[in-house]
Formats: sequence, structure tokens, C-alpha cells
Amino acid sequence: MKLINGKEISNGLRLEIKDQVKKIKQETGNLPGIATILVGKNPASQIYIKSKIKACQEVGIQSFHHNLGENSSKENIISLINKLNKNSAVDGILLQLPLPNNKYTQDCINAINPLKDIDGLHPLNAGLLNLSKNWDEIIKKNILVSCTPLGIIYLLHKSNISIERKTAIVIGRSNLVGKPVSMLLLANNATVIIAHSKTKNLKKICKNADIVIAAIGNSKFLNKNFIKDGATIIDVGINRTPDGLCGDVDFNSVKNMNVTITPVPGGVGPMTITMLLENTLKAFKNRC
Ligand code: NAP
Repeated sequence: MKLINGKEISNGLRLEIKDQVKKIKQETGNLPGIATILVGKNPASQIYIKSKIKACQEVGIQSFHHNLGENSSKENIISLINKLNKNSAVDGILLQLPLPNNKYTQDCINAINPLKDIDGLHPLNAGLLNLSKNWDEIIKKNILVSCTPLGIIYLLHKSNISIERKTAIVIGRSNLVGKPVSMLLLANNATVIIAHSKTKNLKKICKNADIVIAAIGNSKFLNKNFIKDGATIIDVGINRTPDGLCGDVDFNSVKNMNVTITPVPGGVGPMTITMLLENTLKAFKNRC
């Protein structure tokens, strides 16, 4: 088994981002800025927001945090988003999900100026990703892509794992992870299978895949019986269990196989925040 060290790769990228921020400051006198919005007091969301703000500070990106009450109406949230859309010091708007009331999540996302949508969840950015011909175009056009999927592709590239001509299976079809990562793999010339809870013969299909992306949210769901010799496994799952954090892959079951795998924690997780910083730089450049 070979490990993909997401923390190390992420730290290297953050140093590059820090240099770019310094250069932007020297050349323009401005610093890129993120506005974070937390609605309510979800403990996990509070931790994520804190880590995001800390990461901004470390690379020199400005951050402006806004806390809204648990019972904030859709209109309250959208009114704040509209103010931030107009604020020229704000390049990126991060609305921490889930919202206490999931019913208006999409309306709130739709209210974000697509140029400031550093989570890449606005329909326009999701559409641009789907319309892009290949990876080069996604990079050249600075398309804002959902952070976790983007981080997964960076992990594969930085680990010299070729994607082209490989058979990849993505297990999960969420707008946040499954769908965008499938599009990114396709843009990198993989043959992509998207599986979900209604997929038949998952074990058999998965066993044929060169690259397995597990984005299910079910602890230790995949074991060695799903994995072929030589496969690369990207474990996106973050599951809180009495024994601590674990992924969607049963790590102990596959650890003696000839596989390359991201650990949980320390694999995909650190890359997600790094891609948020990367997207903020893109948003800054796109607005210049
Ligand atoms: P989600 O919206 O709940 O989607 C889960 C997907 O898994 C759904 O498409 C679902 O299929 C599929 N699924 C559920 N049970 C299945 C089964 N038995 N067989 C095959 N597919 C099944 O979750 P998400 O937001 O994509 O997140 C997935 C996991 O990644 C979670 O653990 C989350 O915490 C983690 N995550 C990690 C990061 C990170 O930075 N590391 C970021 C985001 C998410 P249906 O569509 O048919 O229901």
C-alpha cells in the first residue's frame, strides 16, 4: 500500500498561494479577501469556519466573518449576500453549509455573484464545468470548481497518478462532490462510471476500476472485495464514529493490498481548504 499524503501536498500548495498573495499585494496594493457566513451554531461548521479563517491568515488572504442567528430567514441571508456581492474588498463569498434550514440552501447559493462563488456551487459555475472541453480549459478560464473535487484532481496530478484512459468509478452523486469530481475526471480523459444508492452490482463494477472515488458518507463501506489490485483509492468520506474519524473505506481491509490510497484524516480534507484559497485567487484575478 502507498499513501497519498494530502497534508504535505496541501502545505506545498499553500506556500505557492502565499507567494502569489505577496506578489498581488506588491503589484496592486490590494489583498484578496474572503467573506465567510455562518448561520446558526452547528459545532462541526464552527470548526470548519475557524480552520478556513486560520488558513486565510496563514497565506495573507483577508477574511471577514459574519455570524447569523439560527432562525435567520432566507431574506436575511440573501440580504447579507447582496451586500457582500457589492463590497469590492470581498473577492469570494463562502456560505458555510449545511444551513439550519436546508429548504433555502439553493436560493441562497443562487444569490451569490457567480464571480465570487469560491465554493463553485452556483449553477453558472457548475454549468461552465460541465461545458468545458478538458482540464486545460478549466484551468485557463479560471473556472470556479467545487473545492473538494478540485482538491482530488490536484492530489492525483501531484502524486503522478495518470487519469487519462483509466476507468474511474465515483461512488456518490452529490452536487458538492460526486457530480463535479465525475466531470473533472472526464475532463482529464478518464472513462467515468457514477454509482449511487440504486446502483446494482456495485462490488463487481468497482472491482474493475483503476481509480475509485468514495464519496458516500458511510463509514468503512468499501473493503478489499470492491478493490482491484493496483487501484488508486480516494477516500472522501468523513465519518465520526466512537473510535474517531474514519473514511468510507475500510483502511485495515485494504492496507495489505497493492493500492495507493488517501488516509482519513490527512488525505482529501486538507486539500479542500487549500482549494478554497486557490479559488479566492482565481476570483480575485477574474474580477481584475
Ligand atoms: P451526500 O450528499 O450525502 O451524498 C452521498 C452519496 O452517496 C449519494 O449520492 C448517495 O446516493 C450515495 N450513497 C449512499 N449510500 C450508498 C450506497 N449504499 N451505495 C452507493 N452509493 C451510496 O454526501 P456528500 O456531501 O457528497 O459527502 C460524501 C462524504 O464526503 C461525507 O462523508 C462527507 O462528510 C464527506 N465530505 C468530505 C469532504 C472533505 O473535505 N474531505 C468534503 C465534502 C464531503 P443517492 O444519491 O442515491 O442517495
